[in-house]
Amino acid sequence: MITPKFHWKYMGLVAGVLLFTAIQSVIAQEELTVSEVDVAAYQVQLAVDLDQQQLAGNVLLHCRTNAKSTQLVLDCGQTSVQSVESTSIKSFRQEDRKLILQLNAHHRGQHEIRITYRARPTRGVVFLPDQESAYSVYFTSEWMICNMNPDDRSRCKIEIDLPPHLSCIASGRFIGRAEQSNGRVRHTWELSSPAPAYTYGFSIGNFQHLEESHEGHYLHYYAREFTPAQLRQIFQYTADMFSFFKEKAGMPYFQEAYRQVMIGHHYQEMSGFAVLKTSYGHLILEDSTETNLIAHELAHQWWGNQITCKDWGHFWLNEGFATFMSAAFNEHRFGSSKYESDIAAYKKVYEKIKAEGQDKSLVFDNWKNPSRSDRNLVYFKGAYVLHLLRQELGDPAFWKGIRDYSRQFYGQSVTTRDFQQALEVSTGRSLQDFFDQWIY
Ligand SMILES: [Zn+2]
Repeated sequence: MITPKFHWKYMGLVAGVLLFTAIQSVIAQEELTVSEVDVAAYQVQLAVDLDQQQLAGNVLLHCRTNAKSTQLVLDCGQTSVQSVESTSIKSFRQEDRKLILQLNAHHRGQHEIRITYRARPTRGVVFLPDQESAYSVYFTSEWMICNMNPDDRSRCKIEIDLPPHLSCIASGRFIGRAEQSNGRVRHTWELSSPAPAYTYGFSIGNFQHLEESHEGHYLHYYAREFTPAQLRQIFQYTADMFSFFKEKAGMPYFQEAYRQVMIGHHYQEMSGFAVLKTSYGHLILEDSTETNLIAHELAHQWWGNQITCKDWGHFWLNEGFATFMSAAFNEHRFGSSKYESDIAAYKKVYEKIKAEGQDKSLVFDNWKNPSRSDRNLVYFKGAYVLHLLRQELGDPAFWKGIRDYSRQFYGQSVTTRDFQQALEVSTGRSLQDFFDQWIY
């Protein structure tokens, strides 16, 4: 049963989740038409103007196409491309949020391309001028020209020039700050293990900061509004979550640090860090057990960022997993009744969708125009079905299966079939009936 108190808070969770599902689904509409290009590495430089809410950028890409390709297509959002420099490229044009590059006849399929552009993003970057802050959210192509296909994993170096009093958190490892001749300071971050472009991002502002170390990793917490003592309270369970997910995945965290930034009004996982709504911090200060979204975003560092849906049709492997894992952490930390009430809430969302005649396969042929209930299915039916699978298999076999799957596909793209096969090998039994009934 869902108590009124739980229900009210849960609605907060659902509202938050809906916010970022909305964002993710829109991005998913774009991804599906990207042509075959394999980007090995990006190096992006951004000059961010917080007052004018615009940026000037240039990105250097090293990428590969089929040697017979005549065209190379990248995602460019609403940026305005000023120049493209490359010996491979004959001409370029922008059309429907794509940058279409015509290739020279003599190219060999390996390209080094420098693109200079300007952007005044209406999405993809949120500017908070009254707080001298900005942060990126999902639409990487609105601030960096890239390939948004989740199956393309690349290294990325991010350099952001800012006024000297501001700081910056971005994907990867912090390399350093360097003063520039124009009085600005360049902040350099480097993601040296390949990751999908939708996980690249940054947060800019004046932050209070708390740092702790845990099992050989650094955990950093940032916010403008909260003191280090409040940050300690808000993030008191992060270290335990970290150990819990590591154990469940059977794989270590892949970077030296994990950063959480309380800023603005979104929740989003990025590679090596997450942004969380400022108001959520206040909610946790009232009730320290309200940790679902911290857990959800941290779980994505394994299920989502490292084990990534091959295309958005298998998005439930990112979102159903992160949603389920936050309930599993609650069970570990706060006891089985907390887990059960989370699962009951997921089930309730799912049953409402079913009652409305909107129940569908968790695997989408076409994620081009997902409805609100499609998005809810991916998160909440996805998490509920993982719970049912746990009941079907029993705890030892279920958790061994999750670990075997996570280890096998760590750092790779996955389909639902991959998940099913990994579980079948792990448990030594056919799960076809279960997958047919609940997933396909
Ligand atoms: Zn998520």
